[in-house]
Amino acid sequence: MPTHSTRGETLLERLRRRYETTDTRCPECGFVDTEGNWTTQMDGLQVVYHHVCPSCGADRKHVFQLEK
Ligand SMILES: [Zn+2]
Repeated sequence: MPTHSTRGETLLERLRRRYETTDTRCPECGFVDTEGNWTTQMDGLQVVYHHVCPSCGADRKHVFQLEK
């Protein structure tokens, strides 16, 4: 089912999905989070993807810089 939304949302969603599928393993305890509990936070032109391990609570983040 194709989802149509604005371009920005699509890009952000795609990035989040990428982290959810490629960065699922916690470096601290090795827990693999198949649920993909990444959250997205906008901060100006920065997008912060944040994940908290459901097993050990370690948090990780990726910062993505948007271009003007
Ligand atoms: Zn962990």
